[in-house]
Amino acid sequence: MEDVIYDVAIIGGGPGGYTAAFRGAQYGLKVALIEKSDKLGGTCLHWGCIPTKALLFNAEILNHIQHADEYGIEGFGTHVLNWGAVQKRKNGIVQKHTKGLDFLVKKNKVTRLEGYGRLTGPRVDDVLTVEVTAADNTISEVKAKNGHSFSICS
Ligand SMILES: Cc1cc2nc3c(=O)[nH]c(=O)nc-3n(C[C@H](O)[C@H](O)[C@H](O)COP(=O)(O)OP(=O)(O)OC[C@H]3O[C@@H](n4cnc5c(N)ncnc54)[C@H](O)[C@@H]3O)c2cc1C
Repeated sequence: MEDVIYDVAIIGGGPGGYTAAFRGAQYGLKVALIEKSDKLGGTCLHWGCIPTKALLFNAEILNHIQHADEYGIEGFGTHVLNWGAVQKRKNGIVQKHTKGLDFLVKKNKVTRLEGYGRLTGPRVDDVLTVEVTAADNTISEVKAKNGHSFSICS
């Protein structure tokens, strides 16, 4: 890994990071995407936009059912919210999109590195170095001509 000099190293695999990585790779750049979690998608996919909208849709359906008679639909009677099923559906949506990102990493030939990325300092011989600390505390280095950090929520 140390012998490779990437065109760009990106810290953070949320929407900011992965879209930059895919677009960079589509333009022919050699891209490293560094994400501390074992899943790409960031706040948006795992806690924010996607799970909240999945849950909101459940709430919308429940609200419609509770007011069904206003729409001329009768006979719903008692209804029970199965929270486990609600969570299962939401988790399934998140999982599907997470797998979609894994697929796009491969399709776009982005090198994905799992670990906490830290820029070590200014360029040396026109190359930046990012230290990547994995979950088991092993440290590796990524070298790149350009770097960008994408993290606003975490
Ligand atoms: C509850 C909630 C609901 C939201 N709903 C919407 C919505 O409906 N529509 C909308 O447009 N936006 C929504 N947002 C905002 C959206 O989630 C953010 O705008 C978006 O996630 C920002 O993307 P990002 O890539 O900049 O950062 P993030 O998604 O936070 O991703 C950063 C990534 O970088 C990783 N990381 C951080 N530091 C390091 C490091 N040193 N080394 C390696 N990896 C690192 C993190 O693990 C994370 O995966 C919502 C946010 C929340 C909290």
